[in-house]
Amino acid sequence: MSSDSELIVSLAGQLGGILGKRLTPDGLCQATGSLLALAEGEITALLELPVNAEARPACAIDCHACCHCLVGATAPEVIILASRIALLPAETVTAIRQRTAVVAMSMAAMSLDQRMSSRTACPFLHERRCQVYALRPLACRGHTSINRAICDSWLETGEVVTVPTISETRRVVDLSHTALTKALRPFNVRMELLDFRIAIHLALSDGTLAEQWCNGGDPFAAAVV
Ligand code: SF4
Ligand code: SF4
Repeated sequence: MSSDSELIVSLAGQLGGILGKRLTPDGLCQATGSLLALAEGEITALLELPVNAEARPACAIDCHACCHCLVGATAPEVIILASRIALLPAETVTAIRQRTAVVAMSMAAMSLDQRMSSRTACPFLHERRCQVYALRPLACRGHTSINRAICDSWLETGEVVTVPTISETRRVVDLSHTALTKALRPFNVRMELLDFRIAIHLALSDGTLAEQWCNGGDPFAAAVV
């Protein structure tokens, strides 16, 4: 089996091949889309492995407590989602923009600690389901609890809990973030973790944001966690 560092080098090489010599929003979205698909395949395979009953994921399609957490996403994950949303019918884009603006504005008045504990729903949570499931950030894919009651209790009470998670799925997320960061290093772009609920609003509000970020700008500064 390959070590983590070998996996990172190999994955970063594949992503670098897609990114090419000049960083553009299109190349970035292609590379990020390919990374999301790879990570999804790995996580799905991990969750299908035969495991003992105690370590079985409790996650279900309509389970949503974790969609009230602060989700940390990198700029490429936010940029690809915003680029796909921009292709939707105009009235859908307008409705999404309005929803993301309301959430981001409520976040703007809070400190980081308050945002982490506010249990504010992600703007893409609708009728207990994720509306952008295929393009959800890596962190959403890798967060897998083995005890739904603990997740639900946090959402209900806000009391600090330790959610028992499956570490292997989290590892896929960490490897993916590291490989993407390595592949993007030659372009001197910013790869801090962003508060997804703020970052997606910024990306949807400014059609030039992807280009600014690819050119080394810092258009996500207000969303850095
Ligand atoms: S992490 Fe918790 S809240 Fe999220 S889907 Fe899994 S069991 Fe449900
Ligand atoms: S993007 Fe989807 S899965 Fe992730 S927090 Fe938002 S609603 Fe939940």
